[in-house]
Amino acid sequence: MSAGRHGPRVVIIGGGVGGLILAQGLHAAGLPVTVYERDKSPRVRTQGYRLRISPDGERAMRECLPPRVLELLLATSNERHGHGLLAFDEQLHPQWAPEFEDPRGPGPDKIDAVDRVTLRRVLLAGLGDVVRFGRRLIRVEENADGVTAHFASGESATGDVLVAADGANSAVRNQLRLAEQPRDLGVRTVFARLPMDGVHRAGLPEGLRGAFSYVIGSDGHHLGLMPMVFREPPSRAAARIWPGLDLPPGDDYYMAVLNVHRDELAMPDSEFFALDGRELAGFATVRMRDWHPGLRGLFGLGDPADTFAVSLRADLPVRPWGTERIVALGDAAHTMPPSGGVGANSAAWDAALLTRLLREVADGGTTLPAAFGRYQDAVTEHATQAVSLSLKIAQWSIRKLDIEVPAAGVEKSAHHSR
Ligand SMILES: Cc1cc2nc3c(=O)[nH]c(=O)nc-3n(C[C@H](O)[C@H](O)[C@H](O)COP(=O)(O)OP(=O)(O)OC[C@H]3O[C@@H](n4cnc5c(N)ncnc54)[C@H](O)[C@@H]3O)c2cc1C
Repeated sequence: MSAGRHGPRVVIIGGGVGGLILAQGLHAAGLPVTVYERDKSPRVRTQGYRLRISPDGERAMRECLPPRVLELLLATSNERHGHGLLAFDEQLHPQWAPEFEDPRGPGPDKIDAVDRVTLRRVLLAGLGDVVRFGRRLIRVEENADGVTAHFASGESATGDVLVAADGANSAVRNQLRLAEQPRDLGVRTVFARLPMDGVHRAGLPEGLRGAFSYVIGSDGHHLGLMPMVFREPPSRAAARIWPGLDLPPGDDYYMAVLNVHRDELAMPDSEFFALDGRELAGFATVRMRDWHPGLRGLFGLGDPADTFAVSLRADLPVRPWGTERIVALGDAAHTMPPSGGVGANSAAWDAALLTRLLREVADGGTTLPAAFGRYQDAVTEHATQAVSLSLKIAQWSIRKLDIEVPAAGVEKSAHHSR
């Protein structure tokens, strides 16, 4: 555990977006923190999809990350073109083209979208042995020493507090809150990463090039196409800003997303989720075979290793966790569909808040139970809005969801009165 000044020993389970932002924030403040991540190494993940970064998410990262890590993140972020999206029908007749307000304005130092694999490697910069790979959590236990995490390797680690940052299928959550699982929205999504050059050579119509586009088919299927244009290739940015840091080469790409309702899959979920990347690309191509010729073959242009499927789920309602030593952040606390690009930003928001509160505890300004009570109430309220936003966007673009999108209502934690 990295230690500088006195403070609660923090064990973080999961070195993804939220866990690493929290680790950076606590490490920079000199608080004792260790992250336990199940992946064998940082190089295991190659599925580098695009993450939209909202003003909230950017603010949270600027608050937690040291200046050189931020410089690297900005250099490897998306080169922004335009502020809106273009919507078409499947024959590419324009439908509408909303512009979105962005309170950050058009400035050159805005982080508007990032590549997830690059983000993760950037977030690891400078953390060294704060992050331990190859540690898959199987069980947590509260005891007289604090909280102990037990790993599949047979090792264990004890802290004063444990943060579940282990994502949508959180093992901590499954142990402590098995009955409260996210709800299935009924939508199945195929994601692919398509090389930008290849897509342009294959004849993507000019009007869609470099644009954030939605195509809404008359059959209810929905395609999203989002460009990721690196300001600077990540490996070159690393050589300039952080020599020796291993970042991917980073060729520009489109993230392609095809949403299909499960009633339209023509196969059970068990069969759909057993399809490999090549078969998923084939599935998407068949579904788009009557669409505009410039769209039909898109999924065939991706590397099958980067093509995968997920089901869209959401926590409804978002509920606070009722323990004083274990808290959750990000998807472990509040899963939501990727529509609207809100999940990672919410994880970053949680991490920044938790960093602030744990610093306050370390400085003697508050107690741990009071800090966790405040954390849980604020996260529940913020995440309720975020889930509601992502569901509204899902409903708007995907149309058929298996749930009613509720008006936002917030549950309070057991610590609310403190
Ligand atoms: C294709 C796609 C596109 C998306 N686009 C956007 C977007 O544009 N904007 C946005 O804001 N959000 C987006 N999201 C959502 C976003 O990726 C998640 O909300 C975000 O990654 C959540 O962060 P997290 O830290 O909670 O979890 P994660 O980033 O998933 O990290 C969890 C970590 O925990 C580790 N872990 C899991 N189980 C264990 C265990 N038992 N023991 C130890 N470690 C464990 C995992 O290996 C992982 O590293 C998208 C999601 C997808 C799938």
